[in-house]
Amino acid sequence: MIYYEVLCYSCKQKFRLYEGSLKYKQFKKNGNGIFCCEDCSHKIRMDAIKNFFRYSK
Ligand SMILES: [Zn+2]
Repeated sequence: MIYYEVLCYSCKQKFRLYEGSLKYKQFKKNGNGIFCCEDCSHKIRMDAIKNFFRYSK
């Protein structure tokens, strides 16, 4: 399987972008972009949802 090993900007851990995934395509287009691992993108998403509910009330 083809993959790139990149550094997560949030937790500074190395993780892999596998061929066929959206982030892999983004990396191929813009190798200097900012990427984060699945765990962190999940956390960021959950935080965004929590903030959304906090401010919508
Ligand atoms: Zn991470």
